[in-house]
Amino acid sequence: MKILINYRPNFIHRIINKDLKSKKCTNVRTRFPPEPNGYLHIGHAKAICLNFNIAQYYHGQCNLRFDDTNPEKEHKEYVEAIKYDIQWLGFIWHGDIHYSSDYIKELYNYAIKLIKKGLAYVDELSTDEIRKYRGTLTHPGKNSPYRSRSIEENLIYFYKMKEGYFPEGGACLRAKINMSSPSIVMRDPVLYRIKYTPHHRIGGSWCIYPTYDFSHCISDAIEGITHSLCTLEFQDNRILYNWILNNIDIITRPTQYEFSRLNLEYVITSKRKLNILVTKKIVDGWDDPRMPTISGLRRRGYTARSIREFCYRIGISKQESQIKLSLLESCIRSDLNKHAPRLMAVINPIKIIINNLPIGYEEKIEVPNHPNNPKMGIRYVIFSQEIFIDRLDFCEILNNNKFYKLTLGREIRLRYAYVIKAENIKKDNNGHIICIYCSYDPYTLHKNPIDGRKITGVIHWVSATKNVPAEFRLYDKLFTNPNPSMTNHFIDNINPKSLIISKGIVEENIVKFDNLGPYQIEREGYFIIDNQLSKKSYLVFNRTVTLKESKHY
Ligand code: ATP
Ligand code: MG
Repeated sequence: MKILINYRPNFIHRIINKDLKSKKCTNVRTRFPPEPNGYLHIGHAKAICLNFNIAQYYHGQCNLRFDDTNPEKEHKEYVEAIKYDIQWLGFIWHGDIHYSSDYIKELYNYAIKLIKKGLAYVDELSTDEIRKYRGTLTHPGKNSPYRSRSIEENLIYFYKMKEGYFPEGGACLRAKINMSSPSIVMRDPVLYRIKYTPHHRIGGSWCIYPTYDFSHCISDAIEGITHSLCTLEFQDNRILYNWILNNIDIITRPTQYEFSRLNLEYVITSKRKLNILVTKKIVDGWDDPRMPTISGLRRRGYTARSIREFCYRIGISKQESQIKLSLLESCIRSDLNKHAPRLMAVINPIKIIINNLPIGYEEKIEVPNHPNNPKMGIRYVIFSQEIFIDRLDFCEILNNNKFYKLTLGREIRLRYAYVIKAENIKKDNNGHIICIYCSYDPYTLHKNPIDGRKITGVIHWVSATKNVPAEFRLYDKLFTNPNPSMTNHFIDNINPKSLIISKGIVEENIVKFDNLGPYQIEREGYFIIDNQLSKKSYLVFNRTVTLKESKHY
């Protein structure tokens, strides 16, 4: 399936149009280059939509390349999850999947080339010393004592690094550029470091790994990428990207362009921090419905279409900004409003017994599956002598502000059914209401009372005899702080009410629908059935989003 979202020109389109016109390139090739060290999140969705849509718009190609040169943090599980998520979002990468680790030999040869040109050397300073020698924005750096090694010596030492003569951290390969460059990334950046952790694909065959700066630009060039799109934090590294490509004499010349990353209110978009939430068991895995991961959003009930729509609405620019969470929510709401069939469920049930109906009475009432889309069909709900309503829809004492509630002596309409009036209540020894006795007006099915009585308030309900037990998982934002990443201890800002579990019931039709959803549960929000948590005896529903913007945000 190819998806072309509406064309919305951004500054990258303008660059590409110019490059095509000037014949700087004749085709467009982009790539999405995740590091398999975690699951993809909503920020990655922005980069995915950008790279794949650009390629598609220009009839070009978009590669998927795993940037996997950091064996300690990378796992096959992440590779598989990332592949799945990209496809689920609706995108297809060009040809085979690429891995930076596929180029490990080529990258090594390019490093040798730099050494032979006198442009790289093996340094034996410790990581701390390298940092100290680097200088600061206001002070130039200092040359390492190993910087003046001869080319021959460097070739031997680099070979030794590869053959495992050094411990981790015992040596590294650095570019020989300029320790007093105003650009700190040009102060002899590290190109290779030693790592003995086995790699998830190539095992222990190599113990030296290129850094991101060295492998990324060369991998782009090997794949013939024309426009290498990345987030703004790599802006300073562009000069090094170009330096490396200029000095290894590679024919294809990709160019790096930066755009601003997605920052979303109340949300963390850093795999490292998300990983902490998972390993500390603050959430229930990468796909916990509160996580901003693609897998978490999917489990929560977000559709791929709504995530693409969100990426379309936020657009692409170089402007740093923070997007409101309500924008993401409004994308899923408007999608589900159109597509989700309606259901009734009661989240905090309280029983109603209708006095003027015979015991065991049941009546089938026809209701539409969607109020504005007759094509979605009808279903029947059972109106019975005993029903459940939500505890919050009953108010024992008349309160003028709560005119939409059922109150003793007051009438209210049951959605799609009759008008009922609360007559009296039964309480347990602790004063808790056990059930409410009501009367119903048999002449009010789908119509107002004949004597012109005015009824305010419509509440939802479910038959007490024909229903399915269900657990409802109501989610709120995971953090209480709109900028959780800005705080030192982001974990201190976890919202203790980010998950509320409630036991209730759902109308029996859910079984006939035979579908995980999404559904709109009338008045409560959009929900999806959680396949992992549902049991034979009861269903578990995840609330995707409330029907209206909640006042918390
Ligand atoms: P993280 O901090 O989550 O680990 P990353 O940049 O290290 O992010 P990568 O796997 O390297 O993660 O990211 C792959 C691509 O996704 C990169 O091109 C990166 O720029 C882009 N990307 C990552 N986070 C965002 C974001 N919040 N908004 C837009 N693009 C992003
Ligand atoms: Mg990265």
